[in-house]
Amino acid sequence: MTSHWPLFLSAHLAKLGLSMSISPKELLYGHTVFPYSTARMGRIETERLARNIIEREGKSLTVLVQSSSVGRGTPKFCQSCVIDDLKQLGETYWHRRHNLPFIQRCSVHGELLLALPLRNTPKGISVTKLPEECTGEEVYKWLPESLSSALMQLSFDCLDGRARQDELAWRREYRRIAEAHGFPRQGTGLSSSSVLASFKSFYGEEFLTSAGLNFDPLAAGAWPILLLRSGYEISTSTPRHLLLHAFLENSSAPSPIRANQPGRKPKSLPKADELLARRVREVIAGLPLGSRITVTELLTRAGGWAVFRHKRVVMPRTSKVVQDFRQTEFSERQAGRRPYWRKRLGLEK
Ligand SMILES: [Zn+2]
Repeated sequence: MTSHWPLFLSAHLAKLGLSMSISPKELLYGHTVFPYSTARMGRIETERLARNIIEREGKSLTVLVQSSSVGRGTPKFCQSCVIDDLKQLGETYWHRRHNLPFIQRCSVHGELLLALPLRNTPKGISVTKLPEECTGEEVYKWLPESLSSALMQLSFDCLDGRARQDELAWRREYRRIAEAHGFPRQGTGLSSSSVLASFKSFYGEEFLTSAGLNFDPLAAGAWPILLLRSGYEISTSTPRHLLLHAFLENSSAPSPIRANQPGRKPKSLPKADELLARRVREVIAGLPLGSRITVTELLTRAGGWAVFRHKRVVMPRTSKVVQDFRQTEFSERQAGRRPYWRKRLGLEK
């Protein structure tokens, strides 16, 4: 059967179900990424989608395929699972647990997964072979092991239908975690600029771009912040939910940095300088090797561009860090305005 990754079962869902003598519903929940894709939606919405898919014989699966894949991910498999499957089943299959977004290792064997080589097919990826017939390359390790296993756990919870609640309930949960971890507040809510800058340096520009989930931290509607709001009624894909969730659980709260407000004494400046210098150093330390950014971008990510722009003469510590940064290989000034990672990802020659 020719199937469209990552569902592996497309238009013939209902018919196939009959021929396998299990119900279409069992097939959908037990053998496709449907439970993952709908994990952070409510039960009612999920059941409506399931009915829709089963009644239309899988013709409305596109939206689910989109919400269970990110970037230009290719099908992945584990070499030891191939051997085990051949031994136990006499054939191999594409495992759901290997093919969810951000999964780097096999949860059974602990090995790095192998991915099929990227092909330039504009319309997604079709798999016409079984894993036993494929050769793959070890996946690129975007994430540190601890973060990768945290994301794996969250992903498997989704796939297994654990802790299903609707999106607004999840957003409340994210705000609760953010508050419990001491994320800085601004006015009545969380400080967007601090959260976004810190989120970006947590995952790194290169990873977010590869997943197709990069954003402008200065834009009003940057997606991570929408997931922390109460009234925004747009459902967001599971991968975005999980990145935000893992970030909130595993990052340390960013330090609040603000421009001097009226009535504040200027003597707070040395303290702000010290904080900002520290944040800038943290952002630099978090830059993936080979990435290049401008000083403006650097300060923006550290959450202090507005302050630094006007006060740089009286912020000697931050100025020093910025000056050192200009000398490093990360500074875009050194490289012309062409980030190295674009080349590495084959986006530019
Ligand atoms: Zn395995």
